[in-house]
Amino acid sequence: MLKILEQLRGPQKMRVVCNGHPALRKNSAPVENVTKDIRELAERMIVTMLKGEMVGVGLAAPQVGINKRMIVLHTCLKDGASRAGATAGELLLEPRMPIALINPEIVSSSEEVATETEGCLSLPGVDGTVTRPEQVVIQASTLDGENFQIECGGLLGRCFQHEIDHLNGVLFYDRLSKTEQKKNYIIMKKIEKQEKRRLNS
Ligand SMILES: [Zn+2]
Repeated sequence: MLKILEQLRGPQKMRVVCNGHPALRKNSAPVENVTKDIRELAERMIVTMLKGEMVGVGLAAPQVGINKRMIVLHTCLKDGASRAGATAGELLLEPRMPIALINPEIVSSSEEVATETEGCLSLPGVDGTVTRPEQVVIQASTLDGENFQIECGGLLGRCFQHEIDHLNGVLFYDRLSKTEQKKNYIIMKKIEKQEKRRLNS
């Protein structure tokens, strides 16, 4: 009976863990097999990304406290149309969003960089600008075993870099200038204190 109710309700949201949670600072393990649990986690991560108090364009498994190399993305425009000048990666992946990917890796990065404002569901209230390569070649697999290696730019390229950082225990705060880190320091500490209190309760 409980199972039927769960199916009727659909995948349940998960708690997004915040700065101070140990999962955010660990190196995550590769996903070896796409099990039923992995598929369920992907569905729940997508719901968490899209239906939370804050809507994200990406979410990495460590952000729900699970140190596995899986991310979900939703960087497409609302009407599903791809932007002018979109890279091959945007054209391939955006029509399939929201999408879950396993074991994403940066194969190579462009020399040109871009500076944009970033935010993170695990660092609510923290913002600042991050300079990253403008384009990256990404290798990843879908849950159905499709592998691709493709050039990604724009918001998608940035999002991949931000989410892959999470899989390596890196937060965008680490990449802010010293001045911007200082500006966000108090809020970072406040989030950390709240998270630790939650973990200990
Ligand atoms: Zn993030």
